[in-house]
Parts: sequence; structure tokens; C-alpha cells
Amino acid sequence: MAESVTGTSGTTGTAASAATGGGAGTTSSVTAVATGASTSARVLHQPVTSGAAISPRTWADVAEAGKRADVPAGLWMRCESCTAMLYRKNVEQNLHVCPECSHHYRIGADERVAQLCDPGSFEPMWQNITPKDPLKFEDVKSYKQRLADTQKKTGHADAVVCGKGFVKGRGVALACMNFHFLGGSMGSVVGEKITRTIEMATQSDLPLVIASCSGGARMHESTLSLMQMSKTSAALARHDQAGGLFISVLTDPTTGGVTASFAMLGDVILAEPNALIGFAGPRVIANTVRQKLPDGFQRSEHVMGKGFVDRIVHRKNLRSEISRVIDFAGK
Ligand SMILES: [Zn+2]
Repeated sequence: MAESVTGTSGTTGTAASAATGGGAGTTSSVTAVATGASTSARVLHQPVTSGAAISPRTWADVAEAGKRADVPAGLWMRCESCTAMLYRKNVEQNLHVCPECSHHYRIGADERVAQLCDPGSFEPMWQNITPKDPLKFEDVKSYKQRLADTQKKTGHADAVVCGKGFVKGRGVALACMNFHFLGGSMGSVVGEKITRTIEMATQSDLPLVIASCSGGARMHESTLSLMQMSKTSAALARHDQAGGLFISVLTDPTTGGVTASFAMLGDVILAEPNALIGFAGPRVIANTVRQKLPDGFQRSEHVMGKGFVDRIVHRKNLRSEISRVIDFAGK
């Protein structure tokens, strides 16, 4: 069909078949065929004054037909885990968890904050700290440009949202990482904001909750991003010495420099079901050790079996679990 549309033949016959095919049998395309005489005269011919020249149908015309179809995009979705067809609104109302198979979808920092905190209780902090590009890093496009594009797309300055709020009436210092912002990678700003959140928790004697969701250190910032591992870990050591409580929540995925620093330093480490938790990814490890990895390798359940996670908690129970741990620790 592609040939007949883009080819030079451009007869009315191929145009009509393309319209019914491309328009997926919608009312509008049927109408277009029914009123073929007048429509094709308008669409397929150059202005009458130019004589007999016929312009072939283009993809732009086909796209126009698609637009008229009037079916809202993305109303339904197919679960990437169990392949069930799901009404998108139902999934959203179910905290972005598949109602059929309990697959936990990745969510952004704003959704995470909204899910964890009591409504309207969260106060974001340090929103004006923005990343710089001291190394003038450039790959396919410059880091500076990449940051600008991502900031525009996500509406956030960097990959973490920090502040304080209430979880079931218990005050907490909270940091939620945003995977939609450059893979939730930890650069200087993420490290700084998390460190400030930890220090705020220490000074105000608040329980600290960090929901990790990250691909690791941000390579665009090289050593500066790696330094954030020790910076956050040192702040956590001071928080611990002051008797503070840190609940680390691991979500899909928690990997790289984030796993290798603060995410694994929780007094209590909770994880969402089936979240990827590890340092290097499974593909890298499989290529290195040249062995078949066990089923469920680096998933929450497997990692808990090895003693790195204390409890796996369904998203709908996270709030109660966090408040229970806070009460248990007497905070
Ligand atoms: Zn599912």
C-alpha cells in the first residue's frame, strides 16, 4: 500500500483505497469516499487555473483523515506484564498498578509524593537549584541542551523532588526521585538536594523517607556525580549518629550509584514488588560471568532472599507500612 500512495501513479483508485485503509474504516473516511466526486476534485487537483496537473496524495492527507477519526488517544492500554487490555483510568485510580496482575508501573516524582503524603501536606523545598554543565559535556547533543529539553518536558529542574510532608499524620522529610528526568540519574543537584533533605531531617528530628528510582550516577557530570555518593552517605552517617530514622523505599529501577550509596543505607529498606534492584544491570553481569542468570535475578523478591531488603510492600500499603515503621521506631 505504501507504494501505491507514495508512487507516481496517484490515481483516484489508489487514493480511495488508501483512504479506507488508512482511515481504519471510520465514519469520516466513509463520508470522504461517498462524496468522492467533489472531495477528490478539491483535494487531488491543483487550482483549476493551472490546467490538468494532478498532485499525488501525500501522507499529510492521510494524517488529516486520522485526525478526524475523533477517538481519544490512549484511552486503553495493554499491560506490559500480563498483556491484558486495561482502561487507562482504572490503572491510574489503582495507583498505576495493573488490576489484573499487580504489575507496578513506574511513576514520576509528583505522583509518588501525592501517593505517599496526606493530601495537600507536602511542602517542596529547594526547587530553584538547577544543574550546571562545568564539563561542557557533549554526546549526541550537548548536556546543556539535553537538560533544557528535559526540564521543559517534565517541568522539573532536576531528577528529585524534596521537602517535608505528612504520612498518615506523621511528619517526614521526603525525597522522591523522578525516573522521567534523565533516568532519575544522580548529578550534583540530586546529591545536593538529597543531602539537604537528610540534614533537614537530622536538625528537625524528622523521620527521613527516600523513594529511589534511578539508573545511577549521571555520567554527564562524571566525577562530580560520583562525589554525590560519598556526600549523601556521610550525611546519612551523621543522621544515624544523631539517632535519626531513615526508611529507604526502593522502586523499579534502583541501580548504579544510587544503590551503591544512600538507597542501601536505610535503617529499614522497603521495596515495591518485582522492582529491579542492583548495581550493574543483568545484561552486563550475564556478559561478564558468561552464565545464565537465575529467574528473577535482581528483582525485589530475589534481593530480599539475599538479605538486602527487609520487606516487599504493595504500593497501596506503602503509606501504612511507613507510618507503622515510624511508630515502631518511636519517632
Ligand atoms: Zn497486568
